[in-house]
Amino acid sequence: MEWIIGMFFFLYGITFGSFYNVVGLRVPLKESIVSPPSHCATCDRKLKAVDLVPLFSYVFLRGKCRGCKEKISAIYPLMELLTGVLFVCAYVYFGFRWELVVALLFISMLVILTVSDLKYMLIPNKILLPFGVAIFILRFVSPLTPWWDSLLGAVVGFGILFLIAVMSNGGMGGGDIKLFFVIGLVLGTMQTLFTLFLASLIGAIVGMIFLKRTKQGRKTPVPFGPSIAVAALIAYFYGSEIVGWYTSLFY
Ligand SMILES: [Zn+2]
Repeated sequence: MEWIIGMFFFLYGITFGSFYNVVGLRVPLKESIVSPPSHCATCDRKLKAVDLVPLFSYVFLRGKCRGCKEKISAIYPLMELLTGVLFVCAYVYFGFRWELVVALLFISMLVILTVSDLKYMLIPNKILLPFGVAIFILRFVSPLTPWWDSLLGAVVGFGILFLIAVMSNGGMGGGDIKLFFVIGLVLGTMQTLFTLFLASLIGAIVGMIFLKRTKQGRKTPVPFGPSIAVAALIAYFYGSEIVGWYTSLFY
C-alpha cells in the first residue's frame, strides 16, 4: 500500500514539476501562467497533449521540438524528475502530517525559483510572497520547537544576507535576501545558518566549474538561487543529523 501512495506522490510531483517549469519561465516575464497554452520558444508551435506528458514527452521527442527540431533544454525534464523524487522524499519523511504540506510548498517554491533564477537570474517576489505567506500561516499548525525559532530564523537569515549584500556592494541579489527570510520560517535559526554555509560552499564549487568553462568572461555572474535551494533541502531533510554529527566531533 505504502509504495502505491509513494507512486502517487511521484506522479503528482512530475506533473506539478511540469507546471512549475511554466510558472518559473513566465512569471518573471509577467505572462499569464494559463494562457496561451505551452508552445515552443523558437517556432511558437503549440504543444499537443502528448507533448505535455511530464518526463516521457522529452524522451519521446528525443529532446527536440516536433516542428523546428530545436533542442529542448534538459533542465525541464530534470526539474520534473527532481520534483517527483522530492515529493516522494517528503511523503516518506513526514507521512500525513501538517509538516508534509510545508515540505511540499517549500519544495515547490524552490523548484520554481531555480527555473527562474537559471533562466533570468531573478527570484521573483510574485513567487516568494504567496509561498512565504502560506508557510508563515502553516507554522501555526506545524510549529518548530520552540515555536518562535521560525521567526528568529527568518529575521537572522534575512539580516545576515542583508549585511552581506551591503558589505559586498550588490554582490547578493535582493531575491536571495528575501528567500532567506522564507528559509528561516521553514528551517529555524540553526538550520538556516547551516544552509547559508552549505550554499556558499556549493556556490563556490559551481562558480569554479562555471568560470573555468568561460575563460574570458570572468565576471559572468552565476545565479546563487539554485545553490541555496539545494543547500536548503539538504538542511531540511538531513541538517540536524549533519550538525549533530559535526558537533559530536568536539564534545
Ligand atoms: Zn519549435
